[in-house]
Amino acid sequence: MSVRVFRTESEEETIALGKRLAASLPRSCAVLLIGNLGAGKTTLAKGIVEGLGAAPAEEVSSPTFTLIHEYSPRVFHVDLYRLETAEEAASLGLDELWDREAVTLVEWGERFPELMPPERVEIRIETEGEDRRRIEVRSFLPGPHTFPE
Ligand code: ADP
Ligand code: MG
Repeated sequence: MSVRVFRTESEEETIALGKRLAASLPRSCAVLLIGNLGAGKTTLAKGIVEGLGAAPAEEVSSPTFTLIHEYSPRVFHVDLYRLETAEEAASLGLDELWDREAVTLVEWGERFPELMPPERVEIRIETEGEDRRRIEVRSFLPGPHTFPE
């Protein structure tokens, strides 16, 4: 397991960090985005999705109501916020996503840890000030993780 902590001072910096993090992800993994409402989970997802070449950042939004966004056959974005039980969450077809060669971003991924795959990166975002965020990236992927500078 490897951990790295980043700090950003604006929405733009968090998007830029997401783009750089995208380059360090394998083709198949889950990225759990963990943090309170307004922490910046969707903002970081914008950068990751753009960095993976799946869609421009401005086309990325929280799949709060649609539950899953597919930006390309290799990039999915899930939001578990509104789901109440693990059964509901499982019925989204998460296991099928883990079987694909795809990166799946999961907002509120810590809600149902039993449904998450071992090949995952956990990103915790904490608010330290109005525009300042502490972003901790923890890789559970096999092998050492190459974090961006
Ligand atoms: P979440 O998905 O965690 O609920 P969002 O990404 O939708 O959060 O919203 C984050 C909010 O915080 C946005 O309004 C954004 O402009 C603001 N913000 C301020 N500073 C930052 C920062 N450093 N990183 C990310 N978002 C920031
Ligand atoms: Mg969100």
